[in-house]
Amino acid sequence: MRDKTMIIKKLLGGMSLAAMMMTTSPALANEDLKAAIDQDYVYIENLYKWLHANAELSFQEVKTSKRLADEMEKIGLEVTRNIGGFGTVGLLQNGDGPTVLIRADIDALPLEEKTGVDYASTMIGKGEKGEDVPVMHACGHDVHATSLIATARRLVDMKDQWSGTVLFVAQPAEERVGGARAMLEDGLFEKFPVPDYNLALHVNYGVAGTVDFTPGYALTNVDTVDIFVPGIGGHGSAPQTTKDPIVIASQIVMALQTIVSREVSPQDAAVVTVGAFNSGFKHNIISDGAELKLTVRTFKDSVRDHILASIKRMSENMGRVAGLPEDMLPRVTVRMDEYSPSTYNDPDLTERVMEAVSKALGDDATYLKPPIMAAEDFSRFARTEHKIPSLIFGIGGYDQATIDGYAARGEKLPGNHSPYYAPDPEVTLRTGAHAMTAAVLDLLDKK
Ligand code: ZN
Ligand code: ZN
Repeated sequence: MRDKTMIIKKLLGGMSLAAMMMTTSPALANEDLKAAIDQDYVYIENLYKWLHANAELSFQEVKTSKRLADEMEKIGLEVTRNIGGFGTVGLLQNGDGPTVLIRADIDALPLEEKTGVDYASTMIGKGEKGEDVPVMHACGHDVHATSLIATARRLVDMKDQWSGTVLFVAQPAEERVGGARAMLEDGLFEKFPVPDYNLALHVNYGVAGTVDFTPGYALTNVDTVDIFVPGIGGHGSAPQTTKDPIVIASQIVMALQTIVSREVSPQDAAVVTVGAFNSGFKHNIISDGAELKLTVRTFKDSVRDHILASIKRMSENMGRVAGLPEDMLPRVTVRMDEYSPSTYNDPDLTERVMEAVSKALGDDATYLKPPIMAAEDFSRFARTEHKIPSLIFGIGGYDQATIDGYAARGEKLPGNHSPYYAPDPEVTLRTGAHAMTAAVLDLLDKK
């Protein structure tokens, strides 16, 4: 990059610095950025392979967070470790201007890696009951963490081309939706400048080199709901002496099917799934309780509130229908510890960043994508009292040849959370760094 700047200076001869900067076209700056990413690639790939091989579970990201903090320190960021557990913040202040937060999640999943790559993880972590479990970066959070560092390295190098503040946030425990909340509760927005924009990216199983955008609602509210249905047990041959919780719970399951179909506007997507139904243990005994486990997905908070209220109303009243006493009605518990709020991509910010990324990577590289019914705790950074415009965009993880290979064999392409999920590092990492750097350069443009 320095060489190219030298050439420009020579070509321009005696021009003033201001005139010279005006002559540096965005296209030329982008070529410089591309060249710098290429030059840095070996370093970045090594970091990625290390992170991949050293995968750690949510709330256990000891080595990962240390490595990322060290990487940030090495390039001169002001680093704060252990924010909200194993969260790290790297602060880069570079004159007047807005503040951009870039968030990368860093945790992995309890899966045994089956990708066969030579940097595959053989890590063992501690499961929820303290048992040993294999750990793998099956959601690509190693791609996100690496892209964060790659972006930081570029922005440090290109300080003359932007003005403002960047907060590089390496966030733990996304998979268990606790990390963002923990960082905020630990004072992220009190200890550091409040961002004007929040950015994040997520790798998926699209074509490597592409970047996808979803304006507006992109990911859902996720609620975990438990319903306990009390019963009055007895002999299977004498149902008249009992209140059968399996029958009551079955009626609840069927009633719940009418919430989305009859109570929610067809314009508002929502899901109510009963994923578990447990009761009884023997053929001829009517049990004294049944348990239902639900996942509920919504975009709008008003729809969420309505559905959760309906679940309570239907469950309690189904107990009344069966003649259960008032102090024995079915009990609905919404598990707030597992709640993840929906992600809303600010439409103006989305348009602006998409345009910047299209300019950097080419119009063919970007596309619009419909929302999905999954969750991300990145949404937490937007949903504080500061109401910060936020955007998470996607990057493809597979090269076209890999995608074609799976299609030719009639096999399903392994997606995120599969033990076979193996993004192609080279194009993916370059695209992550390029797209994110281009986004920040646009938001922190000097003009
Ligand atoms: Zn995931
Ligand atoms: Zn993920």
